[in-house]
Amino acid sequence: MLGRPLRTMTRVTFDDAAILAELDALRAADAPTHGGRVLSYVYDSGVPQLDELAAQAVRRMQAVNGLDPTTFTSVAALERDVVAFALGILGGGVDAAGTVTSGGTESCLLAVKTARDLWHASGRGAGQGGPGRLVAPVTAHAAFRKAAELFGLVFDGVPVSPETGTCDAAAIIDRLGPDVALVVVSAPSYPFAAMDPVGAVAAACAASGISCHVDACIGGWILPFWPDAASLPAWDLRVPGVTSLSADLHKYGYTPKGVSVLLHATRDRQRAQYFATTDWPGYPVVNPTLLGSKSAGALAAAWAIIRALGADGFTELAARAARATHVLIAAVAGIEGLRVAGRPVGPLLAVATDEQVPPKRRVDPHHWADAARTAGWVLQQQPGLGQADGIRLPHTTHLTVTPVTEAALDELVPALVAAADAVRGEPPVDAAQVLQVVPAQLPERLDSDAAGALLAGMGLGGGGALPERMAPFLALVEALPHPVVERLLVELLARTVAP
Ligand SMILES: *Cc1c(COP(=O)(O)O)cnc(C)c1O
Repeated sequence: MLGRPLRTMTRVTFDDAAILAELDALRAADAPTHGGRVLSYVYDSGVPQLDELAAQAVRRMQAVNGLDPTTFTSVAALERDVVAFALGILGGGVDAAGTVTSGGTESCLLAVKTARDLWHASGRGAGQGGPGRLVAPVTAHAAFRKAAELFGLVFDGVPVSPETGTCDAAAIIDRLGPDVALVVVSAPSYPFAAMDPVGAVAAACAASGISCHVDACIGGWILPFWPDAASLPAWDLRVPGVTSLSADLHKYGYTPKGVSVLLHATRDRQRAQYFATTDWPGYPVVNPTLLGSKSAGALAAAWAIIRALGADGFTELAARAARATHVLIAAVAGIEGLRVAGRPVGPLLAVATDEQVPPKRRVDPHHWADAARTAGWVLQQQPGLGQADGIRLPHTTHLTVTPVTEAALDELVPALVAAADAVRGEPPVDAAQVLQVVPAQLPERLDSDAAGALLAGMGLGGGGALPERMAPFLALVEALPHPVVERLLVELLARTVAP
């Protein structure tokens, strides 16, 4: 019987070319993912053959379920190789262990869950009464605020200096105590590309038995290959006291989205990351990560890219990104009215207004980004932030630099200069003015209708389209109380995808 087509089988017919043409049309409206015109979100190696290799690897794993590496043994082999390479470049010792996750946020969530469980198990928090704390500079990625919320901890943000983009180790160490479940430092941070004081903080954590996570989601796959890597203070698993580290393959691993690694200094710590249960009538569940059934596509792509590049390939691509970053830092420094914020480390930077020049010569970074966008360059606007110590972090515009940026510099640099020339002297959007579109008395609770009406009053939310100029929108984000604007942003995004 086997091999003979079933008589009763009806054919399923469809026009695959037409479906894919429809998909292509949708994709054509996206911001360009290649060529260096979008300086955030996408990490273009500039090597088309690498993209094709990744695509082929994804294709081969299409039907596999990454849930069970004992049934799909390829998954175990791929993960073993990826983790081994990661431990090799990130200083894991003989007792270190790691897991491949679905992305930076999942790595951060699992780092927090693991530390919280170990903190509970240690009994150090017993008798404290309140929930445990997660201590980190305010520049720690928002994923840690999410993790604190999900895992019942309080996010205790340490103010940073606008000059350096980070804080002194002492400011973090001052907050350590038995109720601290975890300290997080970044290598480097996303908003200002600042390298946090990893060594001193990790040493203090070790002395108090507190977990210390290094968030190298953005730096982890490029700083080890950075041209002047040796001149950086140590920041990886080699640093005594660092208990875990996250590094995203879907950033400077040049892999399609959906893959990161979370490394732990010891196997025993890593085991606390797992969830296992036999207390149900189904298959025994053993999950190292948050998901159950999962794709192994991005894992295979990461594995293939690591095989293709090796340390030498990563080093060459890092050199391209580094050269482009240096050119951009010099270019921004040369633009009257703008300055590079803080002391960036690695392939990213934030740009702020240079307050040293008279107001008429200043360039507002959000107007600048809007002007650059008109010319086809997408830069990421970051709102300012009031800190607990009363010191306000300025609003900035973020640039993530990738290997392909080097090839785009001849167009990019003149575009950045021209955008600054176009908006020089234009004052930042006035908060009082943008707040005029918001009713003075906001309802206590914004339901979907009320939030939608508010958005409509601001000219937003119709079909999810964002305004041409984002600076006024960002000013609103800065001016409104966090809970109100957070609710409005939820509404805006929900309406974007609502059927
Ligand atoms: C990107 C990033 C994250 C979160 O990663 P996702 O992959 O976007 O979920 C966390 N920390 C830092 C420093 C990052 O750059």
